[in-house]
Amino acid sequence: MGTASRVAIVSTGDELVLGTTLDTNAGAIARTLAALGYEPASFLVLGDDEEALADAVTRLSADHAAIVITGGLGPTLDDVTRHAVARAAGVVLVQDARVLAELRALFASRGRTFLPANERQALFPAGSTVLDNPGGTAPGFALALGGALVVALPGPPREMLPMLEGELVPRLLRNAPRAHAVAARALHLFGLAESALAEELGAAMHRGANPLVGVTAKDGVLSVTVRATAATAAEAEALAGGHADALARRFPAQLFSRDEPDLARVLGAELRARRVSIALAESCTGGLLAARLTSVPGISAVFGRGWVTYANAAKVEELGVPAELLERHGAVSGAVACAMAAGAARRANARLALAITGVAGPDGGTPEKPVGLVWFGVAIDGVVHAEERRFVARERELIRALAVNTALDLGRRALSGLSGDAAR
Ligand code: AMP
Ligand code: MG
Repeated sequence: MGTASRVAIVSTGDELVLGTTLDTNAGAIARTLAALGYEPASFLVLGDDEEALADAVTRLSADHAAIVITGGLGPTLDDVTRHAVARAAGVVLVQDARVLAELRALFASRGRTFLPANERQALFPAGSTVLDNPGGTAPGFALALGGALVVALPGPPREMLPMLEGELVPRLLRNAPRAHAVAARALHLFGLAESALAEELGAAMHRGANPLVGVTAKDGVLSVTVRATAATAAEAEALAGGHADALARRFPAQLFSRDEPDLARVLGAELRARRVSIALAESCTGGLLAARLTSVPGISAVFGRGWVTYANAAKVEELGVPAELLERHGAVSGAVACAMAAGAARRANARLALAITGVAGPDGGTPEKPVGLVWFGVAIDGVVHAEERRFVARERELIRALAVNTALDLGRRALSGLSGDAAR
């Protein structure tokens, strides 16, 4: 995409650069404009500095179709947006008689004195179009500057958001880039290295590709977004859908959902749909797996109990793990993971049981059993097997989060009858 669709979003205010207020405007504007087919190309956050803002507007106008500025439209001296844009455009500020009359009438209707400072809000760079602000006193404005449309909106999200929809969107739709229908598809995968996915995606991840594929990773879950732009909605849908379907066929074992990034919710829904009961036995995750599963509403239909068996004695007493297995193989072993799962399934009278035992670190690793080694036990309808993972993560909490997601994924795979080996 060229300059014709690039948009810069500038958030202004000392409170933003000082970190006391979080910039929520830029993200809201970007999401809205991206859905119109524009390309949000950069975010800029500036203090209430007229010169810095004027410089930024001048610079950005060279290679952006639009610059959307929020904040700095109030009546006080630190509200400098109108002055900065006028300076960048090389025009004077002119008073808008209609806006001034409306402001005076508004103040009168509330029994408030109209102070000279309020006149500032009726000033606009010469040549600009006033954008009504139904929710506040500061109108916005739009001004053509070189090839770019500069749009200034008020800072408070409560005022900005209605103007985004009511004023900015219709204006930009009129100038929208020729190809402006956008369609997006999501895929959520687990059990795949990000680098392996990136190799498969190849050129589709290069800037400017259409469809453009993006990947985010969280605790082992890879979320892929396929965004396509085309002249019509049907073409964009077909382009995004075709690409997403091809990816889905490439990774059938790893794809766990197209709309739900939470593995616990996916497993919970599967358990309920198949009416399969589940039990849990956890060592190094200390109940995190149970917490994730019980965050799913309605899970009580299939989940009755789980155990946190941290010490060897607990594994023996609570789950019936043979002491001899612990002595021979150690707590972090396939044999013990299997015995934990089998014991949990038996004692809870559940069809599926998931067990986790591993070395979360930072201490306790050995050359044979390093930090990050986790064994999983899966018992389903009396058949038990173990899976080993060696997470390269160093951080304890990340290892535990990866272990929980792996267990949830193994449960999902056990239900779908897929072999766990495909997860490697
Ligand atoms: P202003 O229009 O600059 O006078 O901004 C008024 C108020 O709007 C600020 O004090 C903030 O609380 C809020 N605000 C301004 N800009 C943003 C932004 N980018 N994101 C969220 N809130 C904002
Ligand atoms: Mg401000």
